[in-house]
Amino acid sequence: MRVHAEKIRERGETIAFVPTMGFLHEGHLSLMRTGREKADQLVVSIFVNPTQFGPNEDFESYPRDMQRDLALVEKEGAGTVFTPDAATLYPEGFQTRVDLAKLPDHLCGLSRPHFFGGVATIVTKLFNIVKPHIAVFGQKDYQQWRVIGQMVRDLNLDIKIIGAPTVRESDGLAMSSRNSYLTAPQRGSAGSLYQALTRSQVLVDDGIRDARRIIEQAEKLIAGHPETMVEYISICDTETLEPVQTIDKPVLMALAVKVGATRLIDNMVLTFK
Ligand code: AMP
Repeated sequence: MRVHAEKIRERGETIAFVPTMGFLHEGHLSLMRTGREKADQLVVSIFVNPTQFGPNEDFESYPRDMQRDLALVEKEGAGTVFTPDAATLYPEGFQTRVDLAKLPDHLCGLSRPHFFGGVATIVTKLFNIVKPHIAVFGQKDYQQWRVIGQMVRDLNLDIKIIGAPTVRESDGLAMSSRNSYLTAPQRGSAGSLYQALTRSQVLVDDGIRDARRIIEQAEKLIAGHPETMVEYISICDTETLEPVQTIDKPVLMALAVKVGATRLIDNMVLTFK
């Protein structure tokens, strides 16, 4: 991959990179389209990264279908698919980790303490191997997108990070490889995450400024659906992710909800008039 990337660069062509964990859906494909528009060559990686999963999380059962993924990527016109294995990326004796000091102290970082360090480390490694000029990340994983942007700035990496909008199902559920875990009734309940976000925007439009009140309403709406368990709902600063009490600027509303055993996340920037 490194030799191949170097050859592309020697030809004077630019590389757009879309890292994924596979089991691809329209959300991933939209990132690939953005990448293709912005650079000469598109590189997609498919790698379920063990170091970003906690001991009791779903690394083993994470959905995988390499044949289907390769067909989809080819259809999207990616010139290169990089599918490393864990033993190559993490050989015996591996010991370096990239960790951020503040951004992981919020939202998903609280229940997944290893997650963002694992993500920052694998993305750094992939950047060094793929040598992209730009990389595209989904705003569905807003905190991850912010972590990568911060890391690139902090470490002076010469890569432009692009955030792409969340692609949704017809009822608003954010597409996710993990949606495949949901039973039919759980799939019904999963729509409540997006309903809670859009309802919150209506409350802000109606003049409610107290973040606590909006969060309570969102909690109530989600709790009204079977098999849901709210992990967090936060209204926070779009840059630092620090909680916001009074809404007097655009803010990020982010949430994580367990539907059955499946942990789903979603977010929306609440606009302010
Ligand atoms: P994953 O395979 O889940 O690690 O995701 C790979 C990339 O796709 C990440 O940048 C995600 O943010 C992005 N992504 C996942 N789901 C969506 C979605 N529904 N809309 C847009 N981007 C997404």
